[in-house]
Amino acid sequence: MPTTTASPLSRTLLWAIFGGSLAFPAIVATPRALAQDAPAAATAATTPQIHSVIAASAPDVQAFNEHLIILASPWMEGRLPGTKGMERAMDYMEAQFKSAGLEPAFQPSDSSAKNFRQPFSLGGKREVVEESIKLNCANGEKTLDAGTDFKLTSLGTSGSGNGVVAFVGYGIENGPEGFTSFSEGHSLEGKIAMVLRFEPMDEKGSSRWSGGEGWSGRAGFQGKIAAIAKRNPSAIIVVNTPGANDPRVNSLTAGGGATMANVPVFMMSTSAAEQLVSRCDAKHSLMELRKIADEIKAGQPMSFDLGGPDATVAVVGRTEEKTVNAENVVGVLPGRGALAHEVIVIGGHLDHLGMGDFGSREGPGKLHPGADDNASGAAGIILLASSLKNDYAALPAEQPLRTVLFIGFSAEESGLIGSRYYVEHPIYPIKDTVLMMNFDMIGRVKNGRLSVTNSPDVNGFMDWAQPIYAKSPLTIIKSEGRGGGGSDHASFQAVGVPILFAICADFHADYHTSRDTMDLIDRETSVEAVHLWHNLALSMAQLDKRFTIDEKSGPMRTQPMKVRAGLRTRESEDGSGLEIVDVTKDGSADKAGIRKGDKLVKWNKMEMKDRQAFVDDLRTQDPGAKVQAVVLRDGNEITVYVELQAAKEGQ
Ligand SMILES: [Zn+2]
Repeated sequence: MPTTTASPLSRTLLWAIFGGSLAFPAIVATPRALAQDAPAAATAATTPQIHSVIAASAPDVQAFNEHLIILASPWMEGRLPGTKGMERAMDYMEAQFKSAGLEPAFQPSDSSAKNFRQPFSLGGKREVVEESIKLNCANGEKTLDAGTDFKLTSLGTSGSGNGVVAFVGYGIENGPEGFTSFSEGHSLEGKIAMVLRFEPMDEKGSSRWSGGEGWSGRAGFQGKIAAIAKRNPSAIIVVNTPGANDPRVNSLTAGGGATMANVPVFMMSTSAAEQLVSRCDAKHSLMELRKIADEIKAGQPMSFDLGGPDATVAVVGRTEEKTVNAENVVGVLPGRGALAHEVIVIGGHLDHLGMGDFGSREGPGKLHPGADDNASGAAGIILLASSLKNDYAALPAEQPLRTVLFIGFSAEESGLIGSRYYVEHPIYPIKDTVLMMNFDMIGRVKNGRLSVTNSPDVNGFMDWAQPIYAKSPLTIIKSEGRGGGGSDHASFQAVGVPILFAICADFHADYHTSRDTMDLIDRETSVEAVHLWHNLALSMAQLDKRFTIDEKSGPMRTQPMKVRAGLRTRESEDGSGLEIVDVTKDGSADKAGIRKGDKLVKWNKMEMKDRQAFVDDLRTQDPGAKVQAVVLRDGNEITVYVELQAAKEGQ
C-alpha cells in the first residue's frame, strides 16, 4: 500500500504496546490503559484496539510483526555472536525455516543428521575468570569492587602479586629534555606498580607536551606499560588521572590491542585510586601524587613506594582463552529440472552489537536491540522462505526452478565474517550461484524510499529488474555498487556473484545505538520490500538465462574518486593497519574525530592491511555516505563514522 496512507501496524500498535519516544498525538494508549478492562473514557473513544489493529492487518504483516518483535526483544540480548541471546535468535530462525518447509543445508562430518548450521570460528577471545584487588594497609583493609573500581585489561597476562605499591608517575622514561618518571635506584621488583594514565598535564588537565592538541605519543599505553614491565613488578595498575581533560578518564576500558606486559595490568577508577592512596600512604593524596608527576623538570624524583613496608596490596588477575564460535543459519528450497543446480542466495545478517560491545556509536553498556539493523531483514527472510516455498509447490511440476538458499549470516557487524566464510565454504559452487539478494535495514523506509543497489556491468540485469521494481508501490532508489564492504552482499560481489542489496534510502540517527528499537519499525513498508524481493526471486528462479558480471568492464581503479576521506595513510610495517600520518582540518576524517597518530584498522567493515583496499573502497563511495571505521588509539579500538565529503575539482 502507498505509504502516505495511515499504516496501523507500522506505528500505532507497537508504540501502544511498548511505549516509545515518538512525539505522537494523544490518541495512543499507554501500556497501563491497555492492561485495564475499562480504559479512561477520554482514551477509550480514540484509542485503536490492538486486537482489531492486528486483525485488520494483512497476514504477512502480522507474521513480520511477530518475527520482528521476537528477534529485537531483550531475550536476544542484542544478538552478539557467542552469546546465549544470539543462540536463541539462531534457534528461532532455524525453527522458522523448518516450519516453512526448508531443508537443512549441511551434512556434518560425523555423519549425524543434516542440520541448518554452518559453524565457523571468530578466533580466540580472552575472558576474565578472576580479578581481585585487596588493600591491606594501616588505614584499613578493603576489597575493591571488580567492574566499578577496577578491571583487568587485555594489556597484560594472568598473574598475581602481593606487595607494596610503587608509584611511577606517568611511567614515561624518554620524555623531552631528559624527562623520566623513574627515579634512579628505585626498584619495582615484585611490587605493585601504580601508574597514571596519559602524560604530565597542566592546571586544566591538558597535556604539557602536545601544544594544546590532545596528547603526545608518549601518553599511550604501549610505551608506559613496556617501560614499567621491564622493571619486573608483579602487577601494574593504571589509574585514571584525577582532573585529566579527556572523557576516557571515566572509563575502565583499555585494550583491544596487543598484550604489552607479562604481568596482570589493571585499570583503576580515580575514586578507587583515591581510596588506595588514602589507606596506604599517610603523606599524599592522589592529586598530590599527580602534581609531583606533572613536574617536568629533569632530575626531579618521580617514583617511590607508597607508605611503609607493611602497606601492601594483593592482586589477582586470571584470564582464559576461549574460542568464540559463530554459525550461519542456512535453509534450502530445492530447485527442480534443468535449473536446479543453479542457486539464488537470499540473505541478511542476524547478528548485531549485543550491549554495544563494539561498533556502537554511543559506547558499551546498553542493550542494542538492532530492530532495523537487522532484525527487520532477518524477519523479511523468514517471510520469503515460506512465501517462495508455497509458490514453488504451486508451480507445475515440469517448471524448471533454481534452488534458493536462505541465509541468516552471523558476525556481519564485526566485518562481514559470516558471509565471507560462506563464499569460501559454499554449499553449491560459487560459479553456479546466479544472484545474491541482501536485506540489511529494511525496517525504517521513510516516504516509501527503498534503496536498491545492483552490481554494475551485468548485461541486461536492469532490463530484467526494472519492470519488477516498477510494480512495487515503493519508490526504488537505484544505485550501482562496485564492491564496497558495507554489508554481506559485498562478500558475494567480491567473488563475482551479481548482487541486489536493499536498505532504507534515508539513513537514521539511531543506527548502531540503543535507540534502534522495534517501536520505530514500519511493518507495512518492510513487507513491501519483502514483496519486491519475492517477485525478483521468483522471476529469477524461472528465468531461462543467467546474468554474469562483464569481465571486460574496466577495472575498478579507473573509476574517478568522488569523495575525499581527508587523511593520509602509510601502511604499518607489521601489516596491522594504516597509520594515519596526516588529517585535513575540517575534512571528512577530522569531523569524525580521527586524529593524526591513530591507526586505521577497519574501514567499511574490511580489515585495512594495505592502502589499495582503502583506496578501492573510496572509489565505490558517493559524497554523503557514512562509513564505519575503527581506529586504534592508545591501545583502544575506537569506532567512528566518517561522512564522506565530495572531492573538489582539481584536488
Ligand atoms: Zn546491518
